[in-house]
Amino acid sequence: MSEAILDPAAVAAALIRRPSVTPKDEGALDIVTTALEKLGFGCHRLVFGDIHNIYARRGTGRPNLCFAGHTDVVPTGAVEAWSFDPFSATLRDGVLCGRGAVDMKGAIAAFIAATQRFLDARGPDFAGSISLLITGDEEGDAVNGTRKVLDWLEERGEAIDACLVGEPTSAEQLGDMIKIGRRGSMTGRLTVHGVQGHTAYPHLADNAAHRLVAMLHALTTAELDRGSEHFQPSTLQVSTIDIGNPASNVIPATARAVFNIRFSDCWTSEKLERWLRGRLDADGCRYTLDVSVSGESFLVAPGVLSDRLAEAIRRVTGRMPELSTTGGTSDARFIQAHCPVAEFGLVGQTMHKVDERVELSDLAALTAIYHTFLDLFFEPSISREPETVVAGLDPAIHALGAAPFDAQAAVDHRVKPGDDDGG
Ligand SMILES: [Zn+2]
Repeated sequence: MSEAILDPAAVAAALIRRPSVTPKDEGALDIVTTALEKLGFGCHRLVFGDIHNIYARRGTGRPNLCFAGHTDVVPTGAVEAWSFDPFSATLRDGVLCGRGAVDMKGAIAAFIAATQRFLDARGPDFAGSISLLITGDEEGDAVNGTRKVLDWLEERGEAIDACLVGEPTSAEQLGDMIKIGRRGSMTGRLTVHGVQGHTAYPHLADNAAHRLVAMLHALTTAELDRGSEHFQPSTLQVSTIDIGNPASNVIPATARAVFNIRFSDCWTSEKLERWLRGRLDADGCRYTLDVSVSGESFLVAPGVLSDRLAEAIRRVTGRMPELSTTGGTSDARFIQAHCPVAEFGLVGQTMHKVDERVELSDLAALTAIYHTFLDLFFEPSISREPETVVAGLDPAIHALGAAPFDAQAAVDHRVKPGDDDGG
């Protein structure tokens, strides 16, 4: 039993103070590694291109439960628009503020703290392993991140049996939503070719702008599907229309548009592309279409993983989460090819926004949920009552904010049992 309990808010604050905007790491993964090594994890630093990732594992037994997440964050945009320094981890009225607070440094901190509590209570020899796959390339191209780490694991013959992704899936209140799949995403770049001419002599020309408008109308008014048991209906949205014609008396020869389709499990990208081309061919004009797919739709049928996660959420918050596939893509799209995956984390309302922030009470509750989930995953018969969740307001975090930043001190920061969130 280790002598002190990790405060998830202190770990989250240390991570937020590392401005790890993709592809930069800025020492964020050192904080994770240091904390995990103290808990007995063996950590591998995996560098692909300019991206740093880690895979850490404690134990050699099966099942191997993996927590997946990312330490990289999106840019801040105009810093003047923020009401605090985005990388100072300001603590205000029980709220921890900064880029990455909910997406998703807070969840990484909560899982590390939950793991410590679990190991303290169960002793070192529980049957199974806990691992963490943390990437620095989720918000960027996602080329040198999770996907490459999964390849590396496969080459080593290292299997993951189930995976919890800590993305901010809660919609309004912590625990109201788990994601068990994601829609697919396809982007189409359409160029329509006509014949240039004088606007006073349209019979001698073929207006590409008119053609494009008609084709986009055909695409945007079509019903792609009506959704399915776990998916909303697929949608097609036009992102931009570009003609760039400076002369009002010239009929343009070419017109371009870009659109993005979020598609349900009624489609594969291949089938969708065939449908698109059929629809555009029906118009009978010359066009070129380039499509790119950033992810197929997928669904992990509700089962043991989502059941135990939902039960952990219910025990801590009293809420039964909705099982959803809404929202954008995540690295779960790569992991689902290897093992069952479910996503659960903080409330996403401020993610990617100015003034991103997390309630300390949510961080404490998420830690309790992850801890309860670990219990249920490794020994479903156990009936430990989850700890009472009280906002982990810790004066030492204020002190950290005032002093020059010291990551080691932030990770080392511990509070005595009984002084923290009640665990
Ligand atoms: Zn994220």
